[in-house]
Amino acid sequence: MLNCQDKPLINSNKNYYQKPSVLSDIQYAKGVGPKYAKILNRLSINNIYDLLHHFPRDYSDRSNLLTISNLKHGAFQSTQGRIIGSHLQSIRKGLVLFKVVISDSTSNLLLVWFNQSYLKDLFKVGTHVIVSGKVEYKYGNFQIQNPEFEFMDEDNEKDLLHTSRIAPVYPLTENITQKYMRKIIYQNLERHLSCFEETLEYELGLMPLRDAIFQIHFPDNFEELKKARHRLAFEELLCLHLAVLLQKKSVVEKNKIFNYDKIDNSIFLDYEKVLPFTLTSAQKRVCNEIFADLKKTLPMNRLLQGDVGSGKTVVAGFSVFSAFNNNLQSAIMAPTEILAEQHFKYFSKLLAPFNIECRILTSSTKKRDRKIILEDLASGKLKLLVGTHALITEDVIFKNLGLVIIDEQHRFGVLQRASLRRKANNPDLLVMTATPIPRTLALTFYGDLDVSTLDELPKGRRPILSYWAADNMQDRVFEFVKKEIKLNRQAYFIYPLVEESDKIEAKAVIQEAEKLSKDEFEKYRVGFLHGKMKSAEKEEVMGKFKDGILDILISTTVIEVGVDVPNASIMVIFHADRFGLSQLHQIRGRVGRGTHQSYCVFVSDPKSEEAVERLKIMCSTNDGFEISEHDLKLRGGGEYLGTRQHGFSEFKIADLLQDMPISQTAREIAIKMIDEQKQTRFINKSFTFNSMTRNAYTSLDLIH
Ligand code: ADP
Ligand code: MG
Repeated sequence: MLNCQDKPLINSNKNYYQKPSVLSDIQYAKGVGPKYAKILNRLSINNIYDLLHHFPRDYSDRSNLLTISNLKHGAFQSTQGRIIGSHLQSIRKGLVLFKVVISDSTSNLLLVWFNQSYLKDLFKVGTHVIVSGKVEYKYGNFQIQNPEFEFMDEDNEKDLLHTSRIAPVYPLTENITQKYMRKIIYQNLERHLSCFEETLEYELGLMPLRDAIFQIHFPDNFEELKKARHRLAFEELLCLHLAVLLQKKSVVEKNKIFNYDKIDNSIFLDYEKVLPFTLTSAQKRVCNEIFADLKKTLPMNRLLQGDVGSGKTVVAGFSVFSAFNNNLQSAIMAPTEILAEQHFKYFSKLLAPFNIECRILTSSTKKRDRKIILEDLASGKLKLLVGTHALITEDVIFKNLGLVIIDEQHRFGVLQRASLRRKANNPDLLVMTATPIPRTLALTFYGDLDVSTLDELPKGRRPILSYWAADNMQDRVFEFVKKEIKLNRQAYFIYPLVEESDKIEAKAVIQEAEKLSKDEFEKYRVGFLHGKMKSAEKEEVMGKFKDGILDILISTTVIEVGVDVPNASIMVIFHADRFGLSQLHQIRGRVGRGTHQSYCVFVSDPKSEEAVERLKIMCSTNDGFEISEHDLKLRGGGEYLGTRQHGFSEFKIADLLQDMPISQTAREIAIKMIDEQKQTRFINKSFTFNSMTRNAYTSLDLIH
């Protein structure tokens, strides 16, 4: 597969030496051997390729060798000289100093090591040595403690890896030094760099691949380093886009086993008739997009994104209605029981005029009910099943599952999604999310999905007014809440988890609820909700709040996603600084869902600059897209993506945020490559593609 002259080292004849290939086990790399191989394995370096792709985490600029008299106290500097003397000194038990003095024509420099007596045999008077480290001026002399050093001799002048250059600083593990790492990487680069054939056939003004791999380790200067970084980031992003685009092609090329020949456009009118409101034009557009997908012989693979409150559920309802009319079963999976319960109620009511029976399956469904549900699913009698991840357990078998809907998809692991999908033969898939990925990243994230966006809120919605109140303004906030309740509105009070433990979470909320219901809100109807409650209890409280029997719902973030009570108009979030931006946006989205003016108050005395920044952003915009862009910027590409199980942390060089322009070009090139059928040649040559695709495929829900 890889075009490389090297052959693997599998040869028992000791007299016959064959150079190992880059894919040979790391123990065969020059300078390694079985003992170090074990240590390198801990750094996920298993073969020579991995070693050459063990990139520096930083660089230390030692390109400027100073004369000793020009050294500066406190700076990290490099210099050179000849050894004029050395001395091993035992200070006390367990402490041995080794001192060396070197000299150039300008001055002397003292080098000091602690407990490294073995060095005494290395530092021979008269030898030329280059040293770097933090310079100190002490007792009238310059000195460096524990410097890095390299002896200079006539032969190895070109091998000065550690000093007199921009030296790479590698991620290390126990029992391996920077010097060792530099040495083996350098030696193996020398031997194996020729294996890396240029992968790009387009003239893009990028540094050639081989040069880039060399320069990223041992850059000639910072300019070259930048070019090398750019080239390697490009390679990674190109591989990712290519994997995503190719996968999309392959999913899309497998036909469904059913078709939608039993229905036509007119069902849209049937559906609209029973709705208590008119659809927004964005909703109509997306329904059309979905309908067109259903009609195709290839399965739908669509992401429906829309800000909180944009009305995604009713659109999902339309696709269920279509599947039903075509005699197919549908499944809806939600991340929490509360949300599954809510969907169940919503869909039951919505679809009741059409006599579409809907059932719910969660881990707390009673055995007897579960048995009936499973029977009705298998016989095809039950057309719509809503649930949590309980839906994907082994014994849930559908007769003819045609449509799979996954709500709030970022909450689900990749494997869970894949297994729901596997319950049917290439079903249509609709994934819904209210946490939009920043526009700039959407292509990379969802490159394999078609995207529909609800970019319009239902008519009559007023933007939520948001305020930030200091902790000591709580009384005023409570007065305001009371005024709203007088107008028959309802309020949410949200508390963060005080500790990770559920018990403490429950306690905090219960205590607050009790305290508030006893004094401040004595005359009001207060309920509370937390993750520790039994689902029947949760349901009861949620139901009461929804029916207006409670004025205030005090809760932890269990209500974060999806909960829909249009009459609630006030959201008070306590300790708001403890939440992330996207989470705050989700929580705030629980109000502003009806026609009343809604308010959100962040009660907080933030302790960090970043928390202040978050609250300011929240008060300045209601736009989920904008907020997710800010979220990305504040948290940085790595963390943002890392928390989302997308597997993009696999990049060694590329940073999706910083390298966005590179990513865009890479995508264009990937498309061009596929158009021109050049991808196979690229894949055969690219080591990066072969090491990355596995991750890219699995991370993007691309396994079937
Ligand atoms: P989300 O996109 O956050 O999931 P929902 O689907 O829960 O939003 O819808 C939010 C609320 O808006 C629900 O109460 C729903 O009935 C209502 N709604 C949806 N579409 C419209 C519309 N076109 N006009 C008025 N209300 C709507
Ligand atoms: Mg929703």
